[in-house]
Amino acid sequence: MASETRNIVIVGGGIIGCTSAYFLTRHPSFNPAIHKITVLEATAIASGASGKAGGLLALWAYPANIVPLSYRLHAELAKEHDGARRWGYRAVHCGSIDAKGKKLDAGGTDEGKGEEWKKLPKTHIKPGKTIGVEIPKELDWFDNESIRSYSEMGDPSTTAQVHPYQFTTSMADLAKEAGANIIFGKVTALDYTGHGVNGVTYEDKETKQSHTLPATDIILAAGPWTSKIFPDAPIESTRAHSVVIKADVSPYAVFTEIELPKDFSIPGKKRRHGKNVNPEMYARPDGTVYACGETDDLTPLPATADLVACDTSRCDDISAYLSSISSVLKSSEVLTKQACYLPLVSSGGGPIIGETGIKGLLLATGHTCWGIQNSCATGKLVSEFVFEGGAMSANVESLDPRNVM
Ligand SMILES: Cc1cc2nc3c(=O)[nH]c(=O)nc-3n(C[C@H](O)[C@H](O)[C@H](O)COP(=O)(O)OP(=O)(O)OC[C@H]3O[C@@H](n4cnc5c(N)ncnc54)[C@H](O)[C@@H]3O)c2cc1C
Repeated sequence: MASETRNIVIVGGGIIGCTSAYFLTRHPSFNPAIHKITVLEATAIASGASGKAGGLLALWAYPANIVPLSYRLHAELAKEHDGARRWGYRAVHCGSIDAKGKKLDAGGTDEGKGEEWKKLPKTHIKPGKTIGVEIPKELDWFDNESIRSYSEMGDPSTTAQVHPYQFTTSMADLAKEAGANIIFGKVTALDYTGHGVNGVTYEDKETKQSHTLPATDIILAAGPWTSKIFPDAPIESTRAHSVVIKADVSPYAVFTEIELPKDFSIPGKKRRHGKNVNPEMYARPDGTVYACGETDDLTPLPATADLVACDTSRCDDISAYLSSISSVLKSSEVLTKQACYLPLVSSGGGPIIGETGIKGLLLATGHTCWGIQNSCATGKLVSEFVFEGGAMSANVESLDPRNVM
């Protein structure tokens, strides 16, 4: 099958589509003379969650059948392509802080009763070893008097990070240099009449003209949008806000359990707050701290990534929660306020990677909150499905899309 002419079309230029393109171009059977690889992206590379995620990589992530492979591939790619410089790859410490937040200087009116915080599923992990009230001395960007306890969740041998936007765009660039083509256009239809896939129709981003690309293989990697293109894919989505703050602090990823004071309120805002909040923070080597807040289902997924609505007051909430336990972050400039949608598998678990029962149509989606971590394994496995007819590097039977379709 690898010796035949192939038109491989990847739908979606997020981290999953771009790592798929990268690993396809690195597969030993890839021959640019007969194998055409095209990424079709509706708006811009990494315009969804892949450009707005935290970027934490962890050996203690899930699912266990692909995590070690992906973690290792991240390290290998960073070594091969100078990922430390190019996409901020580095090993980090990771811990969880239990803290009592302080009131902010001047509050607005705290209206109504706060709702329970909707956690990103990333924190559904075993708590680590509790060290006690003493937090590591390098974690000096938190106010000591606010901290009740600190639990270690990972160390630099088990935890690392990348800048997701830089990593995804680098994967796209490296795939392009090796022969892949990137087209900006929104896929409007997949043709899989007859014995398998035949083509992909898209609307060109600039001209708005409709075109059809012939396809022998389609990799559907459109994250939360996957079910809009292929309704049989059981993919849902949920929104999450995040901020990027200018602060050059020690290399830690920090999960939190913050109890807010009873009368906590944010200057100039009239908003309710839950009693306990759980923002996550990742210090980055570029002198910033990324922090994300809770998930919400207030606004359905829009047609394209550029139409995602960011409710800046939710970003302000995140900053206020951080400020309640960190004077350093309180006095730092907020550089970015943003929102994106997490792709979820309707029945839970995820991701789903592999065949659909339609010849030539593969799914690689539903990566929940570990899509950055699991991107490399997904891309590698996609390349094996395409050129070798099945997964070779990991047993991914439990992630077979046909189990949930
Ligand atoms: C707040 C937050 C923090 C996170 N932190 C982490 C983390 O620390 N570590 C980690 O491992 N994971 C993290 N994640 C999860 C990770 O971001 C996602 O799992 C991952 O980005 C999903 O990648 P994707 O390529 O499947 O989807 P996306 O990034 O959504 O990409 C899908 C792409 O498909 C394109 N597309 C959609 N429809 C069409 C169409 N019709 N035609 C053509 N193109 C189309 C979109 O424009 C988009 O570019 C986080 C997620 C969130 C929300």
